[in-house]
Amino acid sequence: MTPPAPTPDPHVTRLAPSPTGALHPGNARTFLVNWALARQRGWRIILRIEDLDSPRIKPGVIDLTVDLLRWLGIDWDFGPLVQSEEPGPHRQAMERLAKEGRVYPCELTRGQIEAAASAPQEGAHDTPFPRDLRPATIPREFSDASASWRLIVEPGEVGFEDEFAGPRSFDVSRIVGDFVVWTRRDPARAGQPTYQLAVVVDDHRQGVTNVVRGDDLLDSGSRQLLLYRALGYRPEPSYLHLPLVRGPDGRRLAKRHGDTRLDAYRSAGVPAERVVGLVAHWCGLSKTPRPMPASEFLASFRLDTIPRTPITFTPENHQWLGR
Ligand code: GLU
Repeated sequence: MTPPAPTPDPHVTRLAPSPTGALHPGNARTFLVNWALARQRGWRIILRIEDLDSPRIKPGVIDLTVDLLRWLGIDWDFGPLVQSEEPGPHRQAMERLAKEGRVYPCELTRGQIEAAASAPQEGAHDTPFPRDLRPATIPREFSDASASWRLIVEPGEVGFEDEFAGPRSFDVSRIVGDFVVWTRRDPARAGQPTYQLAVVVDDHRQGVTNVVRGDDLLDSGSRQLLLYRALGYRPEPSYLHLPLVRGPDGRRLAKRHGDTRLDAYRSAGVPAERVVGLVAHWCGLSKTPRPMPASEFLASFRLDTIPRTPITFTPENHQWLGR
């Protein structure tokens, strides 16, 4: 599908759900906020289904995702665009990175990388990729699309001004080091871009200027800016990362917190106004949740009432959605 045509002030954002079939109230928060900001500020909205994130997409799940957004009262101007349907630009980006000597094939396993890391970081989930595991020669061609490829990351802070989180800066070499941009996740299939590469290539070619998402992706902002620079893409997007919605145990909302799928609430007859009302409450628009149509959310939404701390999906919230 054709991306939006340029206009004099082309502010463009995207709703980028991963079609896992398990959109939860935390996702509803992100999409409602993104939508309300866009509609209040006159940004155009692309709906982009990020189906490259998940190894296997069950039939019907993309339709379900689109349907749930509509059910909430969200609309958009372009799409749904489906990420996997246009593999050409991702491959071209790899060709460009290879030509510039920015990427190399790497088939090391996580175990081999851990074993080679000279100073494993205590408590860290991942060990940054040790530089001495880079190959001696960096190929100048994207010669093997069925291999995994890493981007060369040099030490240094990559900063950006986040519209919600404020000035942020990450040294990607200390967090992950050379990171995977192309992967052969499924041995039966050819390789494909990772989330980091696909999101940058698609945001750029679809003219996205404003990225709104959960702050679990805050440090990805720096990784993505490295890719913008390596690919020579301008302008770089503006970021707005929102506090994540967490379970009562402080962990990211997931199955362990019970069945919080929007689809499950909808099937149980819960009206969308209850979900929107809960999101409005989380956004500081009401002391306690009350049913609210998306149109009212849009009219009353303000960025500055959103609390700066993580939002907890409490048992009372679940109950509110259970009536
Ligand atoms: N598809 C990602 C998700 O559902 C969002 C990625 C992004 O906004 O950059 O978490």
